Amino acid sequence: MHPDARIYVAGHGGLVGSAIVRRLQAAGFTNLITRRSRDLDLRDQAAVQAFFQQERPEYVFLAAAKVGGILANSTYPAEFLYDNLMIAANVIHAAHLSGVTKLLNLGSTCIYPREAPQPLREDALLTGPLEETNRAYAIAKIAAIELCDQYRAQYGCDFISAMPTNLYGPGDNFDLLGSHVLPALIRKMVDAQEAGQPTVQVWGSGTPRREFLHVDDLADACLFLMERVSEPGPINVGTGEDLSIRELAERVRAAVGYTGELVFDPSKPDGTPRKVTDVSRIHALGWHHQIGLEEGLRHTVDWYLAHRGHVRGEAAAVSSPA
Ligand code: GDP
Repeated sequence: MHPDARIYVAGHGGLVGSAIVRRLQAAGFTNLITRRSRDLDLRDQAAVQAFFQQERPEYVFLAAAKVGGILANSTYPAEFLYDNLMIAANVIHAAHLSGVTKLLNLGSTCIYPREAPQPLREDALLTGPLEETNRAYAIAKIAAIELCDQYRAQYGCDFISAMPTNLYGPGDNFDLLGSHVLPALIRKMVDAQEAGQPTVQVWGSGTPRREFLHVDDLADACLFLMERVSEPGPINVGTGEDLSIRELAERVRAAVGYTGELVFDPSKPDGTPRKVTDVSRIHALGWHHQIGLEEGLRHTVDWYLAHRGHVRGEAAAVSSPA
């Protein structure tokens, strides 16, 4: 990408999109195109096509999505399927029609079958049934990969797909009902410590294993892939290292300095038992993550403390996922 390339970051207000904008700005790209969702509804085909014809982006980072944690995914599956299918179909088709040079589509490692061998390799895609709690979201994300690959096959479009593991970092959603585990635990323990609350609830059994990638590392990988890789199929982006939710909760407790007890709530779903990515493909391409969990947690807790009261999802007692 040349320094004044016209680059559209779809979803620039979210955890991933905002990190991509920061990374592109740091690398000296000056011609970034963004739209808030209230100004451009990516589920609206006509609006998306008009936007692409008018702005003529050369590069597209597709980081716009309806996302959320395990509870949000199982509570609003229709929206997770419809919104994400529409966003992917509209943006990828409009990118083809308007002659975009290259597009990077972002998904998630929840596209892989629940019982796929761990660590999850890219070739596990479509080899078995999906995890029930995020099947709707996963099917939309699989459709987006297929769109990129079929537009590449039929029209020669240079559209690629990156599948990050569970992400965290500044700009995350801290709504306790809609968010993922890591921001939820940070918020619960900061609040509990302040209130002198003796216990914090952690959902499920604590035994599921998850991998966490700092979103600044993902943004770095996105720029790397955009500049250097043109291949069909998903490309995993992760650390390749996982830990149990119980271990994660202990790490968050240490980072926050919470002195109370952790209580596990088995009435909440565990989700898939293990989700760790095989990162040998992206390592072989030449990219490696930089930010370890301890450093990333400390950074995220500091960011949360510095931005408290103005953080996404924080004000919501009960809300739908956004
Ligand atoms: P998943 O990776 O798609 O399952 O998404 P989550 O990040 O929402 O959940 C990961 C795991 O953390 C699941 O086993 C949850 O039950 C567990 N967990 C523990 N406490 C919490 C919490 O407060 N919020 C969320 N979202 N998950 C939690």
